[in-house]
Amino acid sequence: MLKLPITEIFSSIQGEGPYVGVRQIFLRLPNCNLNCPYCDTNTSIPPQFRMEADSGTQLFKQFDNPVPIDKLLALIETYDVNLHHSLSITGGEPLLWVKELKVLLPLLRDKGFKIYLETNGTLPEQLLEVLPWVDIISMDIKLPFDGQVFWDVHEFFLRYSLQKEVFIKLVVQEDTSLINLHIARDLIARVDPLIQTILQPVTPTHGIKAPKPDQLLKWQSFFLEKLRNIRVIPQTHVFMGQL
Ligand code: SF4
Repeated sequence: MLKLPITEIFSSIQGEGPYVGVRQIFLRLPNCNLNCPYCDTNTSIPPQFRMEADSGTQLFKQFDNPVPIDKLLALIETYDVNLHHSLSITGGEPLLWVKELKVLLPLLRDKGFKIYLETNGTLPEQLLEVLPWVDIISMDIKLPFDGQVFWDVHEFFLRYSLQKEVFIKLVVQEDTSLINLHIARDLIARVDPLIQTILQPVTPTHGIKAPKPDQLLKWQSFFLEKLRNIRVIPQTHVFMGQL
């Protein structure tokens, strides 16, 4: 039986993007192909993963990694599918586990779970492999950092994503460059100006500062010159004290 390493499983409130506030099961997978400066997630593979015993208590049971897919499915099925809007596959970068997801996602769909994929949007070929079983794609657009640029892979990824429901999340900070916002905006407009785009002010960390109020309003106006559906939404789970 195929096995998959897990970081954690819990039921909570989606804190980001257009689905903010809905109840979801979160399945967080380890490893990432990027190293974003504002990353707040430990992406290493733990010897054991944790699953919240009762939602909201932050009391966890521990299970050995990697876990066989059938055991993982049984753990997820302890949640009431009807209580949850969808199951968020998050990370790390979940698309690094395509071989395993191609087995797991059809089984989850058969059990009635809607699949919400949170991804950094840099692995378009891997997306194509799991696309049949994904319902909603939350795609990041990563602005360049450490000399790395992602514009081309993002454009491929976004074009493939149009086969499903997709929205874009773009984290902005005080020193975000207007040139990069310009390139990001025009990339989205080229693919489809109706794609919902969320400007997400960074949650301050590692000395990185959130944008000032006037910056956010100017940037939203700038995006609205070419795109129709731009919202500014911060990470709300942080101030709700949710996982
Ligand atoms: S893509 Fe996400 S998980 Fe990976 S380094 Fe960036 S913020 Fe962290």
